[in-house]
Amino acid sequence: MAPNGTSRSGTEHKCMGIVEEAREKSEARRNKPQPWIVRKLAVFITIAMIAYTWYVYVGRMCVPMIRRDAGALGSRGLGITFLVVFCILGLMMIWAYEKIVFTSPGLAKDHVHKSPAPPTRGMQTWWDTESEADLAQAQFQASQNPPPPPPPSESKRSKGGSRADQKRKPSQNGHPLAPSDDENVGVTDALPPVAAARAKATARHVSPQDQSYIQPLPGTVNAQKPMMYTRAPSKTPILLPEYRYCQRDGFQKPYRAHHCRACGTCVLKYDHHCPWVGHCIGARNHRFFLIFVFWAVLFCAWAFATLVGLNAHASLVRPNFNIDGQMIAIIVLSGFFLVFTTALLVTHVVLICSNMSTVEELGVRRMREREKRVLGRLHAWWQFRRRRETVKQWDAEWGRIGKEGHMWWLGSARKNWEATMGDKAWMWFLPIGKSPDDGLSYVVNPRFDAEGRWLPRNEWPAELR
Ligand SMILES: [Zn+2]
Ligand SMILES: [Zn+2]
Repeated sequence: MAPNGTSRSGTEHKCMGIVEEAREKSEARRNKPQPWIVRKLAVFITIAMIAYTWYVYVGRMCVPMIRRDAGALGSRGLGITFLVVFCILGLMMIWAYEKIVFTSPGLAKDHVHKSPAPPTRGMQTWWDTESEADLAQAQFQASQNPPPPPPPSESKRSKGGSRADQKRKPSQNGHPLAPSDDENVGVTDALPPVAAARAKATARHVSPQDQSYIQPLPGTVNAQKPMMYTRAPSKTPILLPEYRYCQRDGFQKPYRAHHCRACGTCVLKYDHHCPWVGHCIGARNHRFFLIFVFWAVLFCAWAFATLVGLNAHASLVRPNFNIDGQMIAIIVLSGFFLVFTTALLVTHVVLICSNMSTVEELGVRRMREREKRVLGRLHAWWQFRRRRETVKQWDAEWGRIGKEGHMWWLGSARKNWEATMGDKAWMWFLPIGKSPDDGLSYVVNPRFDAEGRWLPRNEWPAELR
């Protein structure tokens, strides 16, 4: 028996070793940045598209007009005007594109030293860029391993405990606890999905709220049990070192920095990874990104409008007009990129006016969605006035979600805009100079506590209430 037992345990040990090794290998593969050529491929494609647009617009449309060729789409004067405007917009766009392609977003590794991981007590880094995949995984794990019910002492404390008590109360893993699902039906949180899912998977908490906001859910079997219907932002202390530690890079990330898997490094004020420019958009190139998108919108709009206009006019006045197939290609291309870049421009102007990165906006959007669901439980869909009043009541207690409730909100759209785009008008249109944002120093909204939790209005500094 003994030899058999030993051999079985030996085999198991070997199997475990192989599994562990395979897991490590796959982890290492996942952590590897994309190869250079993959990251930069779309840059070459973009350059090719610009060059082709130039050839068709100038060579096949403007030059025949200027030469007064038979079949030209317009007069010489029109040809020269179109050519000049096209070249000005095109050169501005190329200048801005060159600037964004060669301006690094700012990398955390150039500014922080490696350090050992702070005691995380089982908690992983609170956020990375693989939101959807990690969320699905975390939710799956949470569903497979439902957290144990709270010990009696905890429930007791949650009923009678003060807000301050709750804040101090640590979880099993040493962190102040995050909201759980069933008991906090109305609880919203500002965490990005990954953090929320992980918090759910690892912690349990009964959120204490102002009694006036606690209402029973009508018609439920459990109507005597108080259910929370209020704005209850996350209690997760996201500014604490253990939440800002990057396991992959081995250092503590500056505020607002996140790890980009495509680039394989932590990026300062990470906004998003942009394949069209071949790297990330972050603190030090967000301004140039917006300037590039602005000129790209004008360039695409000009090419699209003039090509469509001239060809439409020619097809109306000439009986045997045959449209050039290459011009159709450019009309389609410029039309597509006009829609794409306009959407980008509008989105980023709104984000910059809120001093929010794309990643941070995900958390805010999630909080809004959850609040909508809570309102749906409180009031029927046609009770718009009641819904508005409830939101007003919550706003009076907390401030507004994307403003007072955003950790990096500076108090006004103008201040937010200038923090990224600079305080001089030329900085908003010309790709010269530097970004006003160094990616390292950010002022935390004073409506948050030192660990990064949104405070209700009555806990704000007196001058802000
Ligand atoms: Zn990192
Ligand atoms: Zn990246």
